[in-house]
Amino acid sequence: MSRLFKTRPERKKGIWRSLVDLALTDVRVAAGGLDEASLEALEETLLRADFGVPATLRLVDRAETELRRGKARGQAMLVDTLKTELGDILGPATGGELRAADAGPTVYLVVGVNGVGKTTSVAKLAYWLSGQGHSVMVAAADTYRAGAVAQLESWATRIGADFLKGQQGGDPAAVAFDALEAALARGTDVVLIDTAGRLHTNRGLMQELEKIDRVVRRRIEGAPHETLLVLDATVGQNAMRQLEAFNAAVDVTGIILAKMDSSARGGIIVALRQEQGVPVKLVGTGEELGDLSAFDPDAFVEAVFASEP
Ligand code: GDP
Ligand code: MG
Repeated sequence: MSRLFKTRPERKKGIWRSLVDLALTDVRVAAGGLDEASLEALEETLLRADFGVPATLRLVDRAETELRRGKARGQAMLVDTLKTELGDILGPATGGELRAADAGPTVYLVVGVNGVGKTTSVAKLAYWLSGQGHSVMVAAADTYRAGAVAQLESWATRIGADFLKGQQGGDPAAVAFDALEAALARGTDVVLIDTAGRLHTNRGLMQELEKIDRVVRRRIEGAPHETLLVLDATVGQNAMRQLEAFNAAVDVTGIILAKMDSSARGGIIVALRQEQGVPVKLVGTGEELGDLSAFDPDAFVEAVFASEP
């Protein structure tokens, strides 16, 4: 069983391949001495890769300063400087560790817009956590789409997790409440609450999410222990607007970046951290239960600056 939780090397390579594709060749070009033009090229590359303006400026400024000081002589030193700066932006590796309750059920609320991969991520998380020996309850607080609920139920059954759903069209907050009651009664370790995909621009739906959050907070002190926003890695800078909108309604503590196996560039991870201070904790790399990895900032930094694509 446990071997399924290790990231297979070929898959890991897959996650970062697109990043490697954007490896900063411009920096390498600059090995002989960085001039204004190559700094501009570096800036363009980072922006194109979704690093966002603040992180891009931070990195380019850093490169410029070091070069002016004469510190970053040669390519190797410049790359080291940029690697350190990027590492500082991303923060330390968490190994996918999520905050847990001191006692009683740990509750994770999973939110995001339609189609990003919430339900799939909930199933993957349930699989991941049961693999670590935790008892898990999955609550389908998406009461709109019967098909999605049935899919989640079959995953939960396969994993051996408890499953709770409400009536179609029923109150999602009531489903969340019932799940917490059941978890408290049964002594379940972790409750995962899947929510309906909502347009972050739809006020009514965001209020519904706030209600779920409120119900959870009232029933269990300290819950939700994580509010995980699922983002589709392929949407680029739009992910930033989604985070802003969800953060206005609930307190997003971490991001699951789904679909990193696709043509995503992943540079958005840097922008999310630099501009909103929210870390990417987990990365989705496919449609199967085992396709979830802890975000590894060191591997990410290495991939960005890999000299061999
Ligand atoms: P939801 O509407 O946010 O709940 O999204 P779903 O979990 O239903 O997923 C929407 C689609 O994205 C489905 O076809 C999933 O199989 C697919 N999907 C989810 N996560 C991943 C991922 O990490 N990689 C890939 N390639 N597809 C994914
Ligand atoms: Mg769903």
